[in-house]
Amino acid sequence: LTIEEMFNKALEEKGLEKEVKVVRTGCFGLCEAGPICIVYPEGSFYSHVKQDDVNRIVEEHLLKGRIVKDLLYIDKAAPVTEIETSINNVGFYKKQKRVALKNCGVINPEIIDEYIAFDGYQALGKALITMSPEDVINEIKKSGLRGRGGGGFPTGLKWEFTRASEGDIKYVACNADEGDPGAFMDRSVLEGDPHSIIEAMALAAYAVGAQKGYVYIRAEYPIAVKRLGIAIAQAKEMGLLGDQIFGTDFSFDMEIRLGAGAFVCGEETALIASIEGERGMPRPKPPFPAQKGIFGKPTVINNVETYAVVPQIILNGSEWFTSFGTERSPGTKVFALGGKINNTGLVEIPMGTTLKEVIFDIGGGIPNGRKFKAVQTGGPSGGCLTEEHLDTPIDFDTLTALGSMMGSGGMIVVDDTNCMVDFARFFLDFTVEESCGKCVPCREGTKRMLEILERITSGNGTMEDLDQLEELAYSIKDSSLCGLGQTAPNPVLSTLKYFRDEYIAHVVDKK
Ligand code: SF4
Repeated sequence: LTIEEMFNKALEEKGLEKEVKVVRTGCFGLCEAGPICIVYPEGSFYSHVKQDDVNRIVEEHLLKGRIVKDLLYIDKAAPVTEIETSINNVGFYKKQKRVALKNCGVINPEIIDEYIAFDGYQALGKALITMSPEDVINEIKKSGLRGRGGGGFPTGLKWEFTRASEGDIKYVACNADEGDPGAFMDRSVLEGDPHSIIEAMALAAYAVGAQKGYVYIRAEYPIAVKRLGIAIAQAKEMGLLGDQIFGTDFSFDMEIRLGAGAFVCGEETALIASIEGERGMPRPKPPFPAQKGIFGKPTVINNVETYAVVPQIILNGSEWFTSFGTERSPGTKVFALGGKINNTGLVEIPMGTTLKEVIFDIGGGIPNGRKFKAVQTGGPSGGCLTEEHLDTPIDFDTLTALGSMMGSGGMIVVDDTNCMVDFARFFLDFTVEESCGKCVPCREGTKRMLEILERITSGNGTMEDLDQLEELAYSIKDSSLCGLGQTAPNPVLSTLKYFRDEYIAHVVDKK
C-alpha cells in the first residue's frame, strides 16, 4: 500500500474516515524531507514518513490529539536539536513567498473543485466579464511581469505585440520543455497546480485574440502530462474551455504536445517547429513568434512559471504583484535548489532576496560541515558566483551583470571538494550533446572547447589552451544562431574568471 492508502485504511479502522480527509497534493518544495505529511489545523510537519509511522500519526495525533514529536521535521537551518511543531516555523519556508507555487502541496491537483475553492478561475471570470482584452494586457504590463523562462522579456509587451499582429487565427503556447539539468520548477507547477496554467493560457488567449492553445511538455514528465490532461478534461466538462466561456462569446480550447527530450526545443522557434511536426530546430528571428509563430500565425509563448502567476495578477491587481520583488524585477522567482545543500528542494522567493539567504537560511547551508565554494545559477546557460557574491540580491539584471543569469531557475551549490573545471566540463558536455547542429559555431565550436577542457582535466593541457578556450568561447557566444549556443560558453567563462587558479593548477601539476 502507498502512504496515502495506509492513512485511509488506518483512519477507517479507527472510525475517523468522516472526520479526517487525506488530500494527496503535488510537491510542497522540501524534497529532501519527503514523503511529507502535514496535519491541519495544527500544521504539524511530519517528514520522511514511512509506512510504519502512519499508524502512530493516526493513533497518537488524530485520535488522541498528541503530536508525535520524534516524527516531526528537524530544521537543518536551526540548531540541530530544534524540532518545529508547526510548518509556519520551518526555516525552509520562512523567507519564501509562494505565488507560482501557491497551491502546490496544498490542493489535490486532480480535483477541479479544490482549485476553484482556492479562487481558481475567478480571474478568468473577472477578465471576461469586467475587463477588455486591452485592460488585461495593461494590467500585466503594469505588473512588470518578466518571462520566467530565462529571457526576462516583459510579458505584457509580448502580449501587446501579438494582439497588434494581423492574423485571422492566433495561438497561445506554454513552454513546458524544461530541460536544464537539476531544474524541476515547471514540472512541479504542472504536477501540483495544472489548472492555474489552463486559466492563465485562457487569459492570454482572451488578451491577444487567440482561439487555441498548445502546452509543449516533455514526455519525460508523465505525472505532469497525466494531471494536465485530467485538468483539461475537467475544465472542458465545466465549460471553462470550449465555446462561450462564462456565457461570453469568447472561445478557447487547448491541447498537449509531447516533446521527445531535446533541450533545444525549449527555444521558442524550435518549439514552434516541433509543435508543427517538423524537426525541432531554431530559425533566425525576426520574424518573432508574436508576428509569425505556430503555423505562421501570431503566437504568444510563455513558460509555465510565467503563466502560473498571471491569474493572481489579474485577480489581485498589478499593485499587489509589484508590492514584492524589486523595481525592475517585481514578484517572485522559483528556484530548484540542488547540489551540495542541506535542504534540496523547490523554493520561491521574492526577487531581491540575497544568495546568502537562499543558500543558508532557506537551504540550510552546506552538508557535512564543508565550505561553500560557488553557486551555479541558470543551468548550462548560466554561470557560477562565488563567496564574494553571496550578498547579491537575486534579480534578472544583477545576475546578468555578474556574468551569470537567472535562467529558468536551476541553482546548484558547490562545496570546497568540487573541481570547478570538472564542473564547467559537465555543463559543456551537456550542451555539446544537445546542440542541434544547425550552425557551425555551436556545433563545432563547443566540441573543440570540450576537447580542450578534457585535455586540461586529464593533465595534458597547456597555458595556450586557456587562451584558446576563452577566444573560442567569445566567438561562439557572438556568432551562434540561438540562445543555446550563445550561452553555452557561460559556465566555462565564469569559472575561468573566478577560478582560473584551478585551471592553471591542472596545467602546472599535470593532473
Ligand atoms: Fe542549433 Fe546550437 Fe545553432 Fe542553436 S546555436 S541553432 S542549438 S547549432
